[in-house]
Amino acid sequence: MSTREEIQKLKKEKNAVILAHYYVNDEVQEIADYIGDSFYLSKVATKIDAAQIIFAGVSFMGESAKILNPTKRVFMPDAGADCAMAHMVDMKKITQMREQYEDLAVVCYINSTAEIKTFSDVCVTSANAVKIVKNLPNKNIFFIPDGNLGEYVKEQIPEKNVILNNGYCPIHAAMTTEQVKKAKETYPDAEFLVHPECKKEILAMADYIGSTSGIINYATNSEKTEFIIGTENGVFYELKKKNPGKKFYPLSEKGICQDMKTITLTKILNVLKNEENEVFVSDEVRQKAMRPLERMLALAE
Ligand code: SF4
Repeated sequence: MSTREEIQKLKKEKNAVILAHYYVNDEVQEIADYIGDSFYLSKVATKIDAAQIIFAGVSFMGESAKILNPTKRVFMPDAGADCAMAHMVDMKKITQMREQYEDLAVVCYINSTAEIKTFSDVCVTSANAVKIVKNLPNKNIFFIPDGNLGEYVKEQIPEKNVILNNGYCPIHAAMTTEQVKKAKETYPDAEFLVHPECKKEILAMADYIGSTSGIINYATNSEKTEFIIGTENGVFYELKKKNPGKKFYPLSEKGICQDMKTITLTKILNVLKNEENEVFVSDEVRQKAMRPLERMLALAE
C-alpha cells in the first residue's frame, strides 16, 4: 500500500481530518481535507466533526486549533515546525504600553504563541486585521508581533494610534524593491500581488495587497493572465490549480518557509499511526487565549 493509501485508510479508521496551510509542500496540500490560510483554517477548526485533527502547519496553528477545539485531539506532523515571528514580542513592552495608555487594545496577529495570545485583547489575521482594528472602540492599538503588517494596518486607519512592534517574518521581510523592479522588467504585463508581511516600500509597488487567500482570489477573478507573487511560494500550488491557463512568477525563489516545508507525507503517516506530537495547552492558557481568538471570529463576521 502506498503512503497516500495508508494515510487515507488510517484517517477513516481514526476519524481524523488533515488541515494544511497554503505554504506546505504540494504533496501535502494534495491529500489535505482542508487547505487555507490561518483565518480559514481557524474557522474550519471550530466546525470540524472529527475526533482527530492533523495540522500540517507550524506550532501556533496547532495551538490555535486545540484552543478552539479542546475536546478534539490535535497532532502536528513535525513538532519542531515553528514560526520565528510568533516569538518576536517583548512581554515587558506589552505591560509598559498598558500602563502608558489606559484604553490600549493589544491586537495580536494569529502568528503568535498561545502564551502571547493570553496577554492580548483580540487576535487578527492578515485577511481581517484592517477590518477588526477599524471596528475596535479603542484609539490606541499595540499591534504585535508583526511590525510590517502593523504598519500596513496603521496606514489604512490613520485615525487610530497604531503602535508598532519590531517583529517580522524572515521570509517576507527578505523580499526587496530590487527584486520587484527586476521582476517587473522581466514580466512587464504581469500584475504584482503581495502579502502585507512584506516591507512597506514593497507594498507601495504592488497592484494588490492581501492575505494568501486574498491573493488567490484576486488572481482567480482577474482578467489579467500574468502575476508576480510576493509571498511564500507554497501558494503556487493553489494558484496553478485554480488557474491552469494563467502564469505566476515568484518575486523571490528564496520565498520559502523551511519550517512549513519540513512537513511530509511520511511524517503525516507517522502521527496517524503512532499518535505522536499531540498538542497540549493548559486549561488556564486555553481559557485566556480563547477570548481573543473568539473575539476575532465574531468581529470578522
Ligand atoms: S512564512 Fe513567515 S510568518 Fe509564515 S510561518 Fe513561516 S516564518 Fe512564520
